[in-house]
Amino acid sequence: MAYKRRQKVLITGGAGFIGSHLCRHYVEEGCDVVCLDNLYTGTKDNITDLLDHPYFEFVRHDQIKPYWGHFDLILNFACPASPVHYQRNAIYTMKTNVLGTLNMLGLAKRCSARIVQASTSEVYGNPEVHPQPETYVGRVNPIGIRSCYDEGKRAAEALCFDYKRVHKVDVRVIRIFNTYGPNMAANDGRVVSNFITQALQGEPITIYGDGSQTRSLCYVSDLVDGIVRIAAAPMETIDGAYNLGRDEELSMKALAEEILRLTQSPSKLVFEDLPQDDPEMRRPQLDKTRRAFDWSPQVSVEDGLRKTIAYFQSLL
Ligand code: UDP
Repeated sequence: MAYKRRQKVLITGGAGFIGSHLCRHYVEEGCDVVCLDNLYTGTKDNITDLLDHPYFEFVRHDQIKPYWGHFDLILNFACPASPVHYQRNAIYTMKTNVLGTLNMLGLAKRCSARIVQASTSEVYGNPEVHPQPETYVGRVNPIGIRSCYDEGKRAAEALCFDYKRVHKVDVRVIRIFNTYGPNMAANDGRVVSNFITQALQGEPITIYGDGSQTRSLCYVSDLVDGIVRIAAAPMETIDGAYNLGRDEELSMKALAEEILRLTQSPSKLVFEDLPQDDPEMRRPQLDKTRRAFDWSPQVSVEDGLRKTIAYFQSLL
């Protein structure tokens, strides 16, 4: 039988929430996967089932320092993504986005690898266009507490498109909207994990502001399906950045009430100060991604929340 070379895939942030699902997917597809993570917010707990696999390798490394190897595909997912964690060391967050992405783009250029950059709906800031199409250039505060992440990710996008223009690197930029599901850390600080862990423990549900701000929540399996399709598409079909998420919008108060209903929790709602620059609304315009990749999110918010509640129940 002819020797078939396995596709070599590098996943930065591979021990994190989304990265760990990507590691599992590409190992199951028969790829040779290297998971690069400094465990700043990621954890080996997310990849314990993969550690003994012959085609999976965990490397503890911080991508703000160069990393070399030979890869066909790089998925650049390393960066704390929860406001609580990315603000914990804001300068480091900016370094991860700028220096880390620069290192990965350099690696992609050197080994002619395809690179998928995990960008974010945060590049749209507090939007005055709703829902947000990829053509919207955003309303971002460059000097606020979210800037290390928002502007860091915007700088990373700029680097990606310059590497594409100047060095012809095969870059794919995806703008990920709020995503939730198993492998989120209980102390992640984002809304879904906070509300579920609070509800399961009978603690007050902390709503920031009056809870009228909206988000659109995507279950992680739908996101991974979209990422994999975008990563596999022929280079000539790629045109700019792509939104990925779910285009059903709900207020944070409605989310809290839904989680209380699904967990049958006696927890009470408490209202706390709204953090600075917290976007009032967010919903992806998905037409471009749906058309290009024949992709659509499948998991309803109720089904996704039920699975996520079961996951946190097993953790607590
Ligand atoms: N939020 C909240 N209570 C929490 C955590 C978050 O009301 O315990 C709100 C937060 O102010 C924001 C929304 O939920 O309006 C989503 O916050 P998250 O940190 O999940 O992500 P963001 O979309 O802001 O990056």
